[in-house]
Amino acid sequence: SADFDVQRIRRDFPLLARTVHGKPLVYFDNANTSQKPLQVIEAVDNHYREHNANVARAVHQLGEEATAAYENARDKLATFINAGSREDVVLTSGTTQSMNLVAYSYALPRLKPGDAILTTVMEHHANIVPWQLVAARSGATVKAAPIDQRGELIVEKFFDMLTPEVKLACVTHVSNVLGTVNPVRDIARECRRRGIPLLVDGSQALPHRPVDVQALGCDFYALTGHKMLAPTGTGVLWAKREHLQAMPPFFGGGEMIREVRFDGTTFAEPPHKFEAGTPNIAGFAGVGAAIDYYQSLGFSAIRAWEHELLIYATERLREIPGLRIFGEAAEKEPVISFLIEGAQATDMATLLDLEGVAVRSGHHCAHPLMQFYGVPATLRASLAFYNTREEVDAFVAALLKVRKLLM
Ligand code: PMP
Repeated sequence: SADFDVQRIRRDFPLLARTVHGKPLVYFDNANTSQKPLQVIEAVDNHYREHNANVARAVHQLGEEATAAYENARDKLATFINAGSREDVVLTSGTTQSMNLVAYSYALPRLKPGDAILTTVMEHHANIVPWQLVAARSGATVKAAPIDQRGELIVEKFFDMLTPEVKLACVTHVSNVLGTVNPVRDIARECRRRGIPLLVDGSQALPHRPVDVQALGCDFYALTGHKMLAPTGTGVLWAKREHLQAMPPFFGGGEMIREVRFDGTTFAEPPHKFEAGTPNIAGFAGVGAAIDYYQSLGFSAIRAWEHELLIYATERLREIPGLRIFGEAAEKEPVISFLIEGAQATDMATLLDLEGVAVRSGHHCAHPLMQFYGVPATLRASLAFYNTREEVDAFVAALLKVRKLLM
């Protein structure tokens, strides 16, 4: 699209100008982690150069500036996901920590033998293993709703499985392997009708689409900063106020208390109740800059360009003999998993790397999904708004070359 100046945008991402093994880098591993624009890099750098101090512990000027940077990120995140209130935004180290917080603080105290947690076959291990750990401690079980061959959740089956013993339902907004976008609003409505709280894993949604957690109607929403232009070690758990108020703290330590006494400690109000210890302050300064960056581009332009790239890449890949794509959902984000008949995914990824192409190979932290398709691994090309049609061409040329070498 003519109004999206991808070449100008690319100049904001210094790493994209790199070469790898003497070839121009084609970075198609964005679902794993995104690259960072200068605005984010400079926000982190500037924090350490100019404002570094601990949060909420000092009355001196630097302490106030560091606290402002951290709390400012919370405000921006609250607006970004339409949280309703900044108090409902718990800052974490990423989706994994957000999930484990829900598992140990919300689910574990409520689970009894015979209860169940419902998830789906397409989940990342972060949306499976924490539930298994708390289920094992409480005598509950974890059930998984099925998907079809196209990689879409069989929604009616999911609804059928929302039986009274289910105490929590957990579903990904967007699949990290298939790109499938799940109908989270409909799922939330059915969960509410049955009084079952719903957690949504938003890790792969925020990089591509605007999210309004209140409009979605879920109870918990988890996200991770490093996939959305921000530094690693940053994330969010958004939850409805009533849940955050009812949940006991999970991590204990500094910053999360009101008063500590050996005859009984009292805790801070949410969200601080869940934010023990010194957080990733510089990282959250970067989160603020990442959100500003998304907002300067606008999601409608981002979505139009990414959709164009997805269609183009899918068409080009279909030209390759023996190539099978996993994930053909009606609505999907720019993630393409595939295999080429007769070639091992890891061998291909290794040879593609020598051509400067970065894709992921393996199980993508989604063993049950690989079991469903009956393959040990796939290759995954995951795109971002700073990718180009020329990179898709270079990727397809590299694939054809590598395919010849392996056949
Ligand atoms: N869920 C999904 C769908 C993901 O793609 C990822 C990251 N691969 C995670 C959860 C975990 O995120 P993090 O490693 O940042 O905690």
